Amino acid sequence: MCGIVGYIGTRQAAPILLDGLKKLEYRGYDSAGVAILNEGTITVEKTKGRLKNLYDMINGGKKLPGTVGIGHTRWATHGEPSDVNSHPHASESGRIAVVHNGIIENYMKLKDFLIGKGYTFISDTDTEVVAHLADYYYNGNLLETMVKIIHRVEGSYALGLVSSDHPDQLIAVRKDSPLIIGLGEGENFIASDIPAILKYTRNIYLIDDQEIALLTRDGVTLYNTYLEEVQKEVFTVDWDIAAAEKGGYEHFMFKEIMEEPQSVLNTVGPVLRQGLLKFDTIPDRISIVACGSAYHVGIVGKYVIEELTRIPVEVDIASEYRYRNPIITKDTLVVVISQSGETADTIAALREAKKQGAKIFGIVNVVGSSIARESDEVLYTLAGPEIAVATTKAYSTQLTAVYLLALSLKKAMGQLPPEDEKHYADELMRLPDLISEMIEQKEKIQYYASKFFNAKSVFFIGRGLDYALSLEGSLKLKEISYIHSEAYGAGELKHGTISLIEDGTLVIAVATQEKLFEKIVSNIREVKARGAVVLSVATEGCEMIEECSDGVLYIPKTDPLFAPSPAVTLLQLFAYYVASLKGCDIDKPRNLAKSVTVE
Ligand code: GLU
Repeated sequence: MCGIVGYIGTRQAAPILLDGLKKLEYRGYDSAGVAILNEGTITVEKTKGRLKNLYDMINGGKKLPGTVGIGHTRWATHGEPSDVNSHPHASESGRIAVVHNGIIENYMKLKDFLIGKGYTFISDTDTEVVAHLADYYYNGNLLETMVKIIHRVEGSYALGLVSSDHPDQLIAVRKDSPLIIGLGEGENFIASDIPAILKYTRNIYLIDDQEIALLTRDGVTLYNTYLEEVQKEVFTVDWDIAAAEKGGYEHFMFKEIMEEPQSVLNTVGPVLRQGLLKFDTIPDRISIVACGSAYHVGIVGKYVIEELTRIPVEVDIASEYRYRNPIITKDTLVVVISQSGETADTIAALREAKKQGAKIFGIVNVVGSSIARESDEVLYTLAGPEIAVATTKAYSTQLTAVYLLALSLKKAMGQLPPEDEKHYADELMRLPDLISEMIEQKEKIQYYASKFFNAKSVFFIGRGLDYALSLEGSLKLKEISYIHSEAYGAGELKHGTISLIEDGTLVIAVATQEKLFEKIVSNIREVKARGAVVLSVATEGCEMIEECSDGVLYIPKTDPLFAPSPAVTLLQLFAYYVASLKGCDIDKPRNLAKSVTVE
Protein backbone atom coordinates (compact mmCIF):
# COMPACT_ATOMS: atom_id res chain seq x y z
CA MET A 1 0.00 0.00 0.00
CA CYS A 2 0.96 3.59 -0.25
CA GLY A 3 2.67 5.09 -3.24
CA ILE A 4 6.24 6.21 -3.69
CA VAL A 5 7.56 8.29 -6.56
CA GLY A 6 11.05 9.70 -6.99
CA TYR A 7 12.60 11.82 -9.70
CA ILE A 8 16.08 12.95 -10.68
CA GLY A 9 16.54 14.86 -13.93
CA THR A 10 16.56 18.31 -15.41
CA ARG A 11 12.87 19.20 -15.16
CA GLN A 12 11.17 20.63 -12.10
CA ALA A 13 10.64 17.60 -9.87
CA ALA A 14 7.61 18.58 -7.78
CA PRO A 15 4.97 18.62 -10.56
CA ILE A 16 6.27 15.27 -11.84
CA LEU A 17 6.04 13.80 -8.35
CA LEU A 18 2.48 15.07 -7.90
CA ASP A 19 1.51 13.70 -11.26
CA GLY A 20 2.96 10.30 -10.37
CA LEU A 21 1.35 10.30 -6.94
CA LYS A 22 -2.00 11.01 -8.56
CA LYS A 23 -1.65 7.76 -10.48
CA LEU A 24 -0.80 5.94 -7.25
CA GLU A 25 -3.43 7.49 -5.04
CA TYR A 26 -5.40 4.24 -5.27
CA ARG A 27 -2.70 2.57 -3.19
CA GLY A 28 -3.15 4.72 -0.12
CA TYR A 29 -4.55 8.13 0.45
CA ASP A 30 -4.68 9.37 4.01
CA SER A 31 -1.87 11.88 3.55
CA ALA A 32 0.77 12.89 1.07
CA GLY A 33 4.05 14.72 0.89
CA VAL A 34 7.16 15.55 -1.11
CA ALA A 35 10.79 16.34 -0.32
CA ILE A 36 12.60 18.46 -2.90
CA LEU A 37 16.32 19.01 -3.07
CA ASN A 38 17.35 22.44 -4.29
CA GLU A 39 20.55 24.43 -3.91
CA GLY A 40 21.90 22.26 -1.16
CA THR A 41 18.76 22.12 0.99
CA ILE A 42 15.84 19.76 1.28
CA THR A 43 12.34 21.20 1.57
CA VAL A 44 9.66 18.89 2.91
CA GLU A 45 5.98 19.72 2.36
CA LYS A 46 3.38 17.26 3.58
CA THR A 47 -0.17 17.20 4.78
CA LYS A 48 -2.95 14.99 6.00
CA GLY A 49 -5.79 14.16 3.60
CA ARG A 50 -6.10 13.62 -0.09
CA LEU A 51 -3.39 14.49 -2.56
CA LYS A 52 -5.44 17.53 -3.58
CA ASN A 53 -4.53 19.17 -0.26
CA LEU A 54 -0.84 18.80 -1.00
CA TYR A 55 -1.40 19.92 -4.57
CA ASP A 56 -3.05 23.15 -3.40
CA MET A 57 -0.47 23.69 -0.69
CA ILE A 58 2.43 23.70 -3.14
CA ASN A 59 0.55 25.22 -6.06
CA GLY A 60 0.70 22.11 -8.20
CA GLY A 61 4.41 21.83 -7.42
CA LYS A 62 5.27 25.22 -8.92
CA LYS A 63 6.14 26.56 -5.49
CA LEU A 64 9.06 24.16 -5.12
CA PRO A 65 12.05 24.61 -7.43
CA GLY A 66 14.51 21.74 -7.74
CA THR A 67 15.09 18.82 -10.07
CA VAL A 68 15.48 16.01 -7.53
CA GLY A 69 12.80 14.79 -5.14
CA ILE A 70 10.76 12.03 -3.55
CA GLY A 71 7.02 11.86 -2.95
CA HIS A 72 4.64 9.67 -0.98
CA THR A 73 0.97 8.98 -0.50
CA ARG A 74 0.38 7.17 2.76
CA TRP A 75 -1.82 4.39 4.08
CA ALA A 76 -1.06 4.63 7.77
CA THR A 77 0.06 1.55 9.65
CA HIS A 78 1.86 3.20 12.59
CA GLY A 79 0.45 6.45 13.87
CA GLU A 80 -2.76 8.16 12.82
CA PRO A 81 -3.03 10.03 9.56
CA SER A 82 -1.70 13.47 10.50
CA ASP A 83 0.61 16.11 9.09
CA VAL A 84 3.52 15.07 11.25
CA ASN A 85 3.11 11.36 10.54
CA SER A 86 2.97 11.96 6.80
CA HIS A 87 6.01 11.14 4.72
CA PRO A 88 8.69 12.15 3.79
CA HIS A 89 10.46 11.99 7.14
CA ALA A 90 13.62 14.00 7.55
CA SER A 91 16.61 13.47 9.80
CA GLU A 92 17.05 16.02 12.60
CA SER A 93 19.88 17.65 10.69
CA GLY A 94 17.55 18.04 7.74
CA ARG A 95 20.18 16.65 5.41
CA ILE A 96 18.40 13.36 4.70
CA ALA A 97 14.76 12.71 3.74
CA VAL A 98 13.11 9.38 3.26
CA VAL A 99 9.83 7.90 2.03
CA HIS A 100 8.81 4.41 3.01
CA ASN A 101 6.19 1.86 2.10
CA GLY A 102 5.81 -1.11 4.42
CA ILE A 103 6.42 -1.77 8.09
CA ILE A 104 9.69 -1.66 10.04
CA GLU A 105 8.91 -4.45 12.46
CA ASN A 106 11.76 -3.80 14.89
CA TYR A 107 11.20 -0.05 14.99
CA MET A 108 10.65 0.04 18.77
CA LYS A 109 14.07 -1.46 19.40
CA LEU A 110 15.68 0.86 16.89
CA LYS A 111 13.86 3.82 18.36
CA ASP A 112 15.22 3.06 21.83
CA PHE A 113 18.67 2.65 20.36
CA LEU A 114 18.48 5.99 18.55
CA ILE A 115 17.00 7.83 21.53
CA GLY A 116 20.00 6.49 23.48
CA LYS A 117 22.20 8.12 20.87
CA GLY A 118 20.48 11.45 21.40
CA TYR A 119 17.94 11.48 18.57
CA THR A 120 14.50 13.00 19.11
CA PHE A 121 11.41 11.55 17.48
CA ILE A 122 8.55 13.77 16.42
CA SER A 123 6.20 11.31 14.70
CA ASP A 124 4.53 8.05 15.73
CA THR A 125 5.61 6.25 12.59
CA ASP A 126 7.92 3.32 12.26
CA THR A 127 9.45 5.09 9.26
CA GLU A 128 11.09 7.86 11.24
CA VAL A 129 13.68 5.39 12.55
CA VAL A 130 14.97 5.04 8.99
CA ALA A 131 15.55 8.78 8.69
CA HIS A 132 17.50 8.88 11.97
CA LEU A 133 19.36 5.63 11.24
CA ALA A 134 20.45 7.13 7.93
CA ASP A 135 21.78 10.14 9.75
CA TYR A 136 23.48 7.97 12.37
CA TYR A 137 25.26 5.80 9.82
CA TYR A 138 25.95 8.50 7.27
CA ASN A 139 29.67 8.56 6.41
CA GLY A 140 29.53 10.69 3.30
CA ASN A 141 28.58 7.72 1.10
CA LEU A 142 24.88 7.07 0.52
CA LEU A 143 25.35 3.53 -0.76
CA GLU A 144 27.27 2.46 2.34
CA THR A 145 24.72 4.20 4.52
CA MET A 146 21.92 2.30 2.82
CA VAL A 147 23.64 -1.03 3.33
CA LYS A 148 23.94 -0.32 7.05
CA ILE A 149 20.26 0.60 7.22
CA ILE A 150 19.30 -2.64 5.51
CA HIS A 151 21.32 -4.62 8.01
CA ARG A 152 19.51 -3.01 10.92
CA VAL A 153 15.87 -2.91 9.84
CA GLU A 154 13.52 -5.90 9.86
CA GLY A 155 10.19 -6.05 8.10
CA SER A 156 9.05 -4.84 4.72
CA TYR A 157 10.13 -1.74 2.94
CA ALA A 158 10.40 0.18 -0.26
CA LEU A 159 12.56 3.18 0.50
CA GLY A 160 13.47 6.28 -1.44
CA LEU A 161 16.12 8.56 0.05
CA VAL A 162 17.73 11.87 -0.86
CA SER A 163 20.49 13.81 0.85
CA SER A 164 21.39 17.47 0.58
CA ASP A 165 25.06 16.44 0.50
CA HIS A 166 24.39 14.56 -2.76
CA PRO A 167 22.29 16.75 -5.02
CA ASP A 168 23.02 14.42 -7.94
CA GLN A 169 21.84 11.18 -6.37
CA LEU A 170 18.62 9.44 -5.45
CA ILE A 171 18.85 6.08 -3.74
CA ALA A 172 16.25 3.37 -3.35
CA VAL A 173 15.86 -0.17 -2.09
CA ARG A 174 13.04 -2.63 -1.53
CA LYS A 175 12.23 -5.75 0.45
CA ASP A 176 8.78 -7.33 0.32
CA SER A 177 7.25 -4.06 -0.89
CA PRO A 178 7.02 -3.14 -4.56
CA LEU A 179 9.35 -0.67 -6.22
CA ILE A 180 10.36 -0.21 -9.81
CA ILE A 181 13.01 1.96 -11.42
CA GLY A 182 12.12 3.96 -14.52
CA LEU A 183 14.85 4.68 -17.05
CA GLY A 184 14.55 7.92 -19.02
CA GLU A 185 16.82 10.12 -21.11
CA GLY A 186 18.77 12.39 -18.78
CA GLU A 187 16.23 11.60 -16.05
CA ASN A 188 15.36 8.58 -13.95
CA PHE A 189 12.53 7.57 -11.65
CA ILE A 190 11.46 5.33 -8.83
CA ALA A 191 7.83 4.33 -8.29
CA SER A 192 5.66 1.82 -6.51
CA ASP A 193 3.88 0.98 -9.72
CA ILE A 194 4.18 1.48 -13.45
CA PRO A 195 1.29 3.96 -14.11
CA ALA A 196 3.14 6.59 -12.04
CA ILE A 197 5.94 6.90 -14.58
CA LEU A 198 4.49 5.51 -17.79
CA LYS A 199 4.04 9.00 -19.17
CA TYR A 200 7.81 9.45 -19.08
CA THR A 201 9.26 6.05 -19.86
CA ARG A 202 8.37 2.47 -20.76
CA ASN A 203 11.78 1.10 -19.77
CA ILE A 204 12.09 -0.16 -16.26
CA TYR A 205 14.15 -2.29 -13.94
CA LEU A 206 12.20 -4.68 -11.75
CA ILE A 207 14.50 -4.74 -8.77
CA ASP A 208 14.63 -7.71 -6.44
CA ASP A 209 14.59 -7.78 -2.67
CA GLN A 210 17.51 -5.95 -1.11
CA GLU A 211 18.85 -4.65 -4.37
CA ILE A 212 19.92 -1.05 -4.04
CA ALA A 213 19.40 1.36 -6.92
CA LEU A 214 21.59 4.43 -7.19
CA LEU A 215 20.01 6.91 -9.58
CA THR A 216 21.76 9.89 -11.12
CA ARG A 217 20.52 12.00 -14.01
CA ASP A 218 22.59 9.98 -16.45
CA GLY A 219 21.99 6.45 -15.33
CA VAL A 220 21.01 3.87 -12.76
CA THR A 221 23.35 1.37 -11.14
CA LEU A 222 22.10 -1.56 -9.13
CA TYR A 223 24.00 -3.15 -6.24
CA ASN A 224 23.61 -6.09 -3.91
CA THR A 225 24.18 -5.70 -0.19
CA TYR A 226 27.92 -6.34 -0.67
CA LEU A 227 27.91 -3.33 -2.97
CA GLU A 228 28.78 -5.47 -5.96
CA GLU A 229 27.12 -4.28 -9.14
CA VAL A 230 24.13 -6.28 -10.31
CA GLN A 231 23.24 -6.52 -14.00
CA LYS A 232 19.58 -6.54 -14.90
CA GLU A 233 17.57 -6.72 -18.07
CA VAL A 234 15.47 -3.72 -18.99
CA PHE A 235 11.78 -4.61 -18.95
CA THR A 236 9.68 -2.79 -21.51
CA VAL A 237 6.07 -2.05 -20.61
CA ASP A 238 3.86 -2.97 -23.53
CA TRP A 239 0.55 -1.53 -22.42
CA ASP A 240 -0.56 1.96 -23.06
CA ILE A 241 -0.99 4.90 -20.73
CA ALA A 242 -4.63 5.07 -21.85
CA ALA A 243 -5.15 1.77 -20.05
CA ALA A 244 -4.40 3.54 -16.79
CA GLU A 245 -6.61 6.56 -17.48
CA LYS A 246 -10.36 6.92 -17.00
CA GLY A 247 -11.05 7.46 -20.69
CA GLY A 248 -14.21 9.49 -20.26
CA TYR A 249 -15.86 7.23 -17.67
CA GLU A 250 -16.85 8.71 -14.35
CA HIS A 251 -15.12 6.01 -12.35
CA PHE A 252 -12.31 3.55 -12.93
CA MET A 253 -14.52 0.84 -11.48
CA PHE A 254 -17.14 1.32 -14.17
CA LYS A 255 -14.53 1.50 -16.90
CA GLU A 256 -12.93 -1.67 -15.59
CA ILE A 257 -16.25 -3.53 -15.59
CA MET A 258 -16.74 -2.43 -19.19
CA GLU A 259 -13.34 -3.93 -19.99
CA GLU A 260 -14.22 -7.35 -18.62
CA PRO A 261 -15.25 -9.00 -21.89
CA GLN A 262 -11.95 -8.04 -23.51
CA SER A 263 -9.88 -8.95 -20.43
CA VAL A 264 -11.50 -12.37 -20.20
CA LEU A 265 -10.93 -12.96 -23.89
CA ASN A 266 -7.28 -11.92 -23.54
CA THR A 267 -6.81 -14.36 -20.67
CA VAL A 268 -8.63 -17.34 -22.11
CA GLY A 269 -7.79 -17.09 -25.82
CA PRO A 270 -4.04 -17.76 -25.81
CA VAL A 271 -4.29 -20.69 -23.38
CA LEU A 272 -7.04 -22.38 -25.37
CA ARG A 273 -5.12 -21.83 -28.59
CA GLN A 274 -2.11 -23.63 -27.17
CA GLY A 275 -4.31 -26.57 -26.10
CA LEU A 276 -4.40 -25.71 -22.38
CA LEU A 277 -1.49 -25.70 -19.90
CA LYS A 278 0.95 -28.58 -19.63
CA PHE A 279 1.47 -30.49 -16.38
CA ASP A 280 4.22 -33.13 -16.16
CA THR A 281 3.02 -34.36 -12.79
CA ILE A 282 -0.39 -34.38 -11.21
CA PRO A 283 -0.54 -33.06 -7.67
CA ASP A 284 -2.00 -35.18 -4.85
CA ARG A 285 -3.63 -32.14 -3.32
CA ILE A 286 -4.10 -28.51 -4.14
CA SER A 287 -4.00 -25.59 -1.71
CA ILE A 288 -5.35 -22.30 -2.96
CA VAL A 289 -4.06 -19.34 -0.98
CA ALA A 290 -5.21 -15.76 -1.46
CA CYS A 291 -6.75 -12.70 0.21
CA GLY A 292 -9.97 -10.74 -0.28
CA SER A 293 -11.69 -11.19 -3.62
CA ALA A 294 -8.91 -13.47 -4.84
CA TYR A 295 -9.80 -15.76 -1.92
CA HIS A 296 -13.36 -15.86 -3.22
CA VAL A 297 -12.00 -16.90 -6.59
CA GLY A 298 -10.22 -19.65 -4.68
CA ILE A 299 -13.53 -20.92 -3.32
CA VAL A 300 -14.93 -21.11 -6.85
CA GLY A 301 -11.68 -22.90 -7.71
CA LYS A 302 -12.28 -25.52 -5.05
CA TYR A 303 -15.72 -26.38 -6.41
CA VAL A 304 -14.59 -26.43 -10.02
CA ILE A 305 -11.29 -28.30 -9.62
CA GLU A 306 -12.79 -30.92 -7.33
CA GLU A 307 -15.77 -31.37 -9.65
CA LEU A 308 -13.64 -31.75 -12.76
CA THR A 309 -10.60 -33.60 -11.44
CA ARG A 310 -11.52 -35.08 -8.04
CA ILE A 311 -8.19 -33.76 -6.69
CA PRO A 312 -8.85 -32.56 -3.12
CA VAL A 313 -8.58 -28.79 -2.85
CA GLU A 314 -8.38 -26.65 0.25
CA VAL A 315 -8.67 -22.89 0.23
CA ASP A 316 -6.98 -20.63 2.74
CA ILE A 317 -6.87 -16.97 3.55
CA ALA A 318 -3.17 -16.19 3.09
CA SER A 319 -2.77 -14.45 6.46
CA GLU A 320 -4.05 -17.59 8.21
CA TYR A 321 -2.29 -20.17 6.09
CA ARG A 322 1.28 -19.58 7.17
CA TYR A 323 0.44 -19.60 10.85
CA ARG A 324 -1.69 -22.73 10.93
CA ASN A 325 1.09 -25.18 10.18
CA PRO A 326 -0.52 -26.42 6.96
CA ILE A 327 0.21 -29.88 5.65
CA ILE A 328 2.39 -29.36 2.61
CA THR A 329 4.28 -32.02 0.72
CA LYS A 330 6.26 -31.97 -2.49
CA ASP A 331 3.17 -33.37 -4.21
CA THR A 332 1.06 -30.41 -3.13
CA LEU A 333 0.36 -27.76 -5.73
CA VAL A 334 -0.02 -24.40 -4.03
CA VAL A 335 -2.01 -21.99 -6.15
CA VAL A 336 -1.53 -18.37 -5.14
CA ILE A 337 -3.84 -15.72 -6.56
CA SER A 338 -3.11 -12.00 -6.47
CA GLN A 339 -3.92 -9.11 -8.78
CA SER A 340 -0.87 -7.04 -7.90
CA GLY A 341 1.45 -9.97 -7.28
CA GLU A 342 2.68 -7.96 -4.30
CA THR A 343 0.11 -8.93 -1.64
CA ALA A 344 2.32 -9.28 1.43
CA ASP A 345 0.38 -12.10 3.10
CA THR A 346 0.20 -14.09 -0.11
CA ILE A 347 3.92 -13.68 -0.76
CA ALA A 348 4.66 -14.86 2.77
CA ALA A 349 2.42 -17.91 2.30
CA LEU A 350 4.07 -18.65 -1.04
CA ARG A 351 7.52 -18.59 0.55
CA GLU A 352 6.44 -20.80 3.40
CA ALA A 353 4.97 -23.37 0.99
CA LYS A 354 8.04 -23.24 -1.22
CA LYS A 355 10.32 -23.81 1.75
CA GLN A 356 8.39 -26.96 2.49
CA GLY A 357 8.87 -28.25 -1.04
CA ALA A 358 5.53 -27.44 -2.69
CA LYS A 359 5.29 -26.40 -6.30
CA ILE A 360 3.85 -22.91 -6.70
CA PHE A 361 1.38 -21.96 -9.39
CA GLY A 362 0.80 -18.19 -9.49
CA ILE A 363 -2.29 -16.51 -10.93
CA VAL A 364 -1.16 -12.92 -11.19
CA ASN A 365 -2.09 -9.80 -13.13
CA VAL A 366 1.03 -7.65 -12.83
CA VAL A 367 3.83 -8.95 -15.03
CA GLY A 368 7.17 -9.15 -13.28
CA SER A 369 5.66 -8.75 -9.80
CA SER A 370 7.13 -10.59 -6.81
CA ILE A 371 4.63 -13.46 -6.89
CA ALA A 372 5.09 -13.86 -10.64
CA ARG A 373 8.83 -14.09 -10.19
CA GLU A 374 8.78 -16.44 -7.25
CA SER A 375 6.22 -18.92 -8.62
CA ASP A 376 7.30 -22.06 -10.45
CA GLU A 377 4.59 -21.53 -13.05
CA VAL A 378 2.61 -18.38 -13.74
CA LEU A 379 -0.66 -17.91 -15.50
CA TYR A 380 -1.10 -14.23 -16.15
CA THR A 381 -4.56 -12.74 -16.06
CA LEU A 382 -4.37 -10.26 -18.88
CA ALA A 383 -6.70 -7.70 -17.35
CA GLY A 384 -4.37 -4.73 -17.83
CA PRO A 385 -3.88 -2.21 -15.05
CA GLU A 386 -6.68 -2.14 -12.50
CA ILE A 387 -6.90 1.18 -10.70
CA ALA A 388 -10.19 1.13 -8.76
CA VAL A 389 -9.58 -0.22 -5.28
CA ALA A 390 -12.49 -2.65 -5.53
CA THR A 391 -11.47 -5.34 -7.97
CA THR A 392 -13.73 -6.19 -10.91
CA LYS A 393 -11.95 -7.15 -14.10
CA ALA A 394 -9.06 -8.74 -12.22
CA TYR A 395 -11.56 -10.93 -10.33
CA SER A 396 -13.27 -11.89 -13.59
CA THR A 397 -10.01 -12.89 -15.21
CA GLN A 398 -8.85 -14.77 -12.11
CA LEU A 399 -12.04 -16.75 -12.34
CA THR A 400 -11.30 -17.76 -15.91
CA ALA A 401 -7.71 -18.56 -14.94
CA VAL A 402 -9.04 -21.00 -12.37
CA TYR A 403 -11.25 -22.63 -15.03
CA LEU A 404 -8.23 -22.97 -17.30
CA LEU A 405 -6.22 -24.52 -14.49
CA ALA A 406 -8.95 -27.05 -13.70
CA LEU A 407 -9.38 -28.05 -17.33
CA SER A 408 -5.64 -28.28 -17.89
CA LEU A 409 -5.26 -30.61 -14.94
CA LYS A 410 -8.15 -32.73 -16.17
CA LYS A 411 -6.52 -32.97 -19.57
CA ALA A 412 -3.12 -33.86 -18.08
CA MET A 413 -4.86 -36.62 -16.16
CA GLY A 414 -6.12 -38.03 -19.44
CA GLN A 415 -9.74 -37.32 -18.52
CA LEU A 416 -10.62 -34.73 -21.11
CA PRO A 417 -11.61 -36.37 -24.39
CA PRO A 418 -11.51 -34.03 -27.42
CA GLU A 419 -15.29 -33.59 -27.53
CA ASP A 420 -15.36 -32.51 -23.87
CA GLU A 421 -12.39 -30.21 -24.40
CA LYS A 422 -14.24 -28.63 -27.28
CA HIS A 423 -17.39 -28.20 -25.20
CA TYR A 424 -15.54 -26.44 -22.40
CA ALA A 425 -13.42 -24.37 -24.79
CA ASP A 426 -16.54 -23.20 -26.63
CA GLU A 427 -18.24 -22.32 -23.37
CA LEU A 428 -15.19 -20.39 -22.16
CA MET A 429 -14.99 -18.48 -25.44
CA ARG A 430 -18.66 -17.54 -25.02
CA LEU A 431 -18.01 -15.90 -21.66
CA PRO A 432 -16.99 -12.48 -23.07
CA ASP A 433 -20.36 -12.33 -24.89
CA LEU A 434 -22.26 -13.41 -21.80
CA ILE A 435 -20.50 -10.75 -19.75
CA SER A 436 -21.41 -8.19 -22.42
CA GLU A 437 -25.04 -9.27 -22.10
CA MET A 438 -24.83 -8.49 -18.38
CA ILE A 439 -23.44 -5.06 -19.15
CA GLU A 440 -26.31 -4.47 -21.57
CA GLN A 441 -28.71 -5.06 -18.68
CA LYS A 442 -27.21 -2.16 -16.76
CA GLU A 443 -30.38 -0.03 -16.77
CA LYS A 444 -32.31 -2.85 -15.14
CA ILE A 445 -29.55 -3.37 -12.58
CA GLN A 446 -29.53 0.36 -11.90
CA TYR A 447 -33.29 0.24 -11.39
CA TYR A 448 -32.94 -2.38 -8.64
CA ALA A 449 -30.06 -0.44 -7.14
CA SER A 450 -32.32 2.60 -6.92
CA LYS A 451 -34.95 0.52 -5.14
CA PHE A 452 -32.58 -0.83 -2.54
CA PHE A 453 -29.75 1.67 -2.04
CA ASN A 454 -31.17 2.73 1.31
CA ALA A 455 -30.82 -0.76 2.77
CA LYS A 456 -29.13 -0.82 6.17
CA SER A 457 -28.15 -4.44 6.05
CA VAL A 458 -28.04 -6.98 3.23
CA PHE A 459 -27.70 -10.77 3.23
CA PHE A 460 -26.47 -12.65 0.18
CA ILE A 461 -27.42 -16.31 0.06
CA GLY A 462 -26.45 -19.09 -2.31
CA ARG A 463 -25.53 -22.74 -2.44
CA GLY A 464 -22.46 -24.39 -3.95
CA LEU A 465 -20.87 -22.11 -6.51
CA ASP A 466 -23.58 -19.58 -5.75
CA TYR A 467 -22.28 -19.38 -2.20
CA ALA A 468 -18.81 -18.52 -3.51
CA LEU A 469 -20.42 -15.91 -5.72
CA SER A 470 -22.43 -14.52 -2.82
CA LEU A 471 -19.22 -13.93 -0.89
CA GLU A 472 -17.88 -11.75 -3.67
CA GLY A 473 -21.19 -9.96 -4.30
CA SER A 474 -21.41 -9.14 -0.62
CA LEU A 475 -17.82 -7.94 -0.36
CA LYS A 476 -18.21 -5.74 -3.43
CA LEU A 477 -21.33 -4.11 -2.00
CA LYS A 478 -19.93 -3.45 1.46
CA GLU A 479 -16.52 -2.24 0.38
CA ILE A 480 -17.77 0.52 -1.88
CA SER A 481 -21.24 1.39 -0.52
CA TYR A 482 -20.51 0.92 3.22
CA ILE A 483 -23.76 -1.02 3.61
CA HIS A 484 -23.38 -3.83 6.12
CA SER A 485 -23.58 -7.02 4.17
CA GLU A 486 -22.91 -10.70 4.78
CA ALA A 487 -22.91 -13.82 2.67
CA TYR A 488 -24.23 -17.18 3.80
CA GLY A 489 -24.57 -20.64 2.43
CA ALA A 490 -28.35 -20.50 1.91
CA GLY A 491 -28.97 -23.52 4.10
CA GLU A 492 -26.82 -22.11 6.88
CA LEU A 493 -28.83 -18.97 7.49
CA LYS A 494 -31.33 -20.70 9.73
CA HIS A 495 -28.55 -21.85 12.05
CA GLY A 496 -28.37 -18.44 13.63
CA THR A 497 -28.33 -15.48 11.32
CA ILE A 498 -31.96 -15.69 10.31
CA SER A 499 -32.71 -13.97 13.62
CA LEU A 500 -31.49 -10.77 11.96
CA ILE A 501 -34.08 -10.92 9.20
CA GLU A 502 -36.94 -8.53 9.84
CA ASP A 503 -39.51 -6.62 7.85
CA GLY A 504 -37.86 -5.09 4.81
CA THR A 505 -34.39 -6.67 5.19
CA LEU A 506 -32.88 -7.09 1.73
CA VAL A 507 -31.80 -10.61 0.85
CA ILE A 508 -30.04 -11.20 -2.44
CA ALA A 509 -30.49 -14.81 -3.47
CA VAL A 510 -28.07 -16.17 -6.04
CA ALA A 511 -29.47 -19.10 -8.00
CA THR A 512 -27.42 -20.01 -11.03
CA GLN A 513 -26.99 -23.71 -10.24
CA GLU A 514 -29.91 -25.57 -11.73
CA LYS A 515 -29.57 -28.66 -9.61
CA LEU A 516 -29.99 -26.55 -6.48
CA PHE A 517 -32.92 -24.40 -7.63
CA GLU A 518 -35.50 -26.13 -5.46
CA LYS A 519 -33.32 -25.93 -2.39
CA ILE A 520 -32.73 -22.22 -2.74
CA VAL A 521 -36.41 -21.60 -3.41
CA SER A 522 -37.12 -23.11 0.02
CA ASN A 523 -34.51 -20.82 1.57
CA ILE A 524 -36.04 -17.81 -0.17
CA ARG A 525 -39.46 -18.77 1.24
CA GLU A 526 -37.94 -19.04 4.72
CA VAL A 527 -36.65 -15.47 4.67
CA LYS A 528 -39.73 -14.11 2.93
CA ALA A 529 -41.85 -15.61 5.69
CA ARG A 530 -39.86 -13.44 8.11
CA GLY A 531 -40.40 -10.22 6.20
CA ALA A 532 -37.37 -10.13 3.88
CA VAL A 533 -37.47 -8.45 0.50
CA VAL A 534 -35.76 -10.75 -1.98
CA LEU A 535 -33.86 -9.80 -5.09
CA SER A 536 -32.74 -12.88 -6.96
CA VAL A 537 -30.00 -13.45 -9.47
CA ALA A 538 -31.00 -16.51 -11.44
CA THR A 539 -30.37 -18.41 -14.63
CA GLU A 540 -32.83 -17.75 -17.42
CA GLY A 541 -35.67 -20.22 -17.37
CA CYS A 542 -35.82 -20.60 -13.62
CA GLU A 543 -39.44 -19.48 -13.26
CA MET A 544 -39.89 -20.84 -9.79
CA ILE A 545 -37.49 -18.18 -8.49
CA GLU A 546 -39.55 -15.43 -10.08
CA GLU A 547 -42.67 -16.57 -8.26
CA CYS A 548 -41.14 -16.17 -4.84
CA SER A 549 -38.86 -13.13 -5.37
CA ASP A 550 -39.61 -9.42 -5.34
CA GLY A 551 -37.31 -8.90 -8.30
CA VAL A 552 -35.09 -11.04 -10.50
CA LEU A 553 -32.03 -10.32 -12.59
CA TYR A 554 -31.23 -13.05 -15.08
CA ILE A 555 -28.01 -14.48 -16.41
CA PRO A 556 -28.02 -16.46 -19.66
CA LYS A 557 -27.75 -20.24 -19.63
CA THR A 558 -24.21 -21.59 -19.66
CA ASP A 559 -22.35 -24.59 -18.32
CA PRO A 560 -23.19 -24.28 -14.59
CA LEU A 561 -19.49 -24.35 -13.68
CA PHE A 562 -19.00 -21.11 -15.60
CA ALA A 563 -22.12 -19.32 -14.37
CA PRO A 564 -20.17 -17.29 -11.77
CA SER A 565 -18.49 -15.46 -14.63
CA PRO A 566 -21.46 -13.50 -16.03
CA ALA A 567 -23.18 -13.47 -12.63
CA VAL A 568 -20.34 -11.67 -10.87
CA THR A 569 -20.44 -8.85 -13.43
CA LEU A 570 -24.07 -8.35 -12.56
CA LEU A 571 -23.30 -8.22 -8.83
CA GLN A 572 -20.41 -5.82 -9.42
CA LEU A 573 -22.69 -3.48 -11.37
CA PHE A 574 -25.31 -3.67 -8.63
CA ALA A 575 -22.73 -2.67 -6.01
CA TYR A 576 -21.47 0.07 -8.30
CA TYR A 577 -24.89 1.64 -8.80
CA VAL A 578 -25.78 1.41 -5.12
CA ALA A 579 -22.54 3.16 -4.16
CA SER A 580 -23.06 5.72 -6.88
CA LEU A 581 -26.60 6.51 -5.65
CA LYS A 582 -25.23 6.88 -2.14
CA GLY A 583 -22.62 9.34 -3.40
CA CYS A 584 -19.70 7.23 -2.20
CA ASP A 585 -16.12 7.68 -3.32
CA ILE A 586 -16.30 4.59 -5.50
CA ASP A 587 -12.74 4.28 -6.72
CA LYS A 588 -11.20 5.06 -3.36
CA PRO A 589 -13.40 3.68 -0.59
CA ARG A 590 -12.50 4.80 2.90
CA ASN A 591 -9.85 2.90 4.88
CA LEU A 592 -8.92 0.69 1.94
CA ALA A 593 -5.92 0.47 -0.34
CA LYS A 594 -5.46 -1.42 -3.55
CA SER A 595 -2.40 -3.51 -3.23
CA VAL A 596 -2.06 -4.62 0.37
CA THR A 597 1.67 -4.80 0.81
CA VAL A 598 1.65 -4.99 4.59
CA GLU A 599 0.74 -8.03 6.67
N1 GLU B 1 4.52 2.21 8.06
C1 GLU B 1 4.58 3.50 7.46
C2 GLU B 1 3.63 4.47 8.14
O1 GLU B 1 2.67 4.13 8.76
C3 GLU B 1 4.34 3.47 5.97
C4 GLU B 1 2.94 3.13 5.60
C5 GLU B 1 2.72 3.09 4.12
O2 GLU B 1 3.18 2.14 3.49
O3 GLU B 1 2.05 4.02 3.62
O4 GLU B 1 3.84 5.64 8.09
